[in-house]
Amino acid sequence: MPELPEVEVTRRGIAPHIEGRTVTGVALRRDGLRWPFPPGLPSLLAGQVVRSTARRGKYLLLRFDHGTLIIHLGMSGHLRVLPAGVAPQKHDHVDIGFGTQLLRFTDPRRFGAVLWHAATDGDVEQHMLLRSLGVEPLACTDLAERLYRGTRGRSAAIKQVLLAGDIVVGVGNIYACESLFESGIHPNTAAGRISRQRFAKLARAIQRVLAAAIEQGGSSLRDFIGADGASGYFQQSYFVYDREGEPCRHCGTAVRRIVQGQRSTFYCVRCQH
Ligand SMILES: [Zn+2]
Repeated sequence: MPELPEVEVTRRGIAPHIEGRTVTGVALRRDGLRWPFPPGLPSLLAGQVVRSTARRGKYLLLRFDHGTLIIHLGMSGHLRVLPAGVAPQKHDHVDIGFGTQLLRFTDPRRFGAVLWHAATDGDVEQHMLLRSLGVEPLACTDLAERLYRGTRGRSAAIKQVLLAGDIVVGVGNIYACESLFESGIHPNTAAGRISRQRFAKLARAIQRVLAAAIEQGGSSLRDFIGADGASGYFQQSYFVYDREGEPCRHCGTAVRRIVQGQRSTFYCVRCQH
């Protein structure tokens, strides 16, 4: 599943190809994905200029003068920039043409979304899918304090609180496991009992882990948006994630797996308390 780093790398990959460019056509090959496509999308976008791209959580935002196209990659989606005229394959559902190039949305499992937020409806941040999202982990300058204040009185496990996304977005399963390991916090710790000092460590770990993933993805950007059809989601080497039974890279103890909220959590019983 695309996580925040993949979405950010996608944004950085497509931005130079579409920012400042005029949409010359839109091809929709089905009625919708997770939700129906916006009515009249081709005529809505034709002749309009992509002024900028942005990301909020895992939503990609393509800003036009008259509104914002909101794209979510769902479980299996990806965007690529291709030369115009490359024949679509089975799961290529949307093409947005920019003259000699096109932006193609491929989504085999069809949990992705393409939505429109008109400028007349106000700030896109107030869109129903965006307005209750937590802070951006990389842009937030007081993440530790947000985590501390947001968790007072909460008995839920810190891992679950991170995944919930209401305090901070984009810390998916992989990055929650990795950042909890890096900060030495047991994933089952009641969030409300974690000190400011430990949240300072956790906040630094979250930011470092996500930034490293984006950096690693950026180095494979050419493949990511390339015409070769590779989906390009990058594999990294993790400290604990998906390493059940393998030795902890710090202390050698076998990495354990538990299930929290139907998701696997990987951790080191010796390094995390
Ligand atoms: Zn360990």
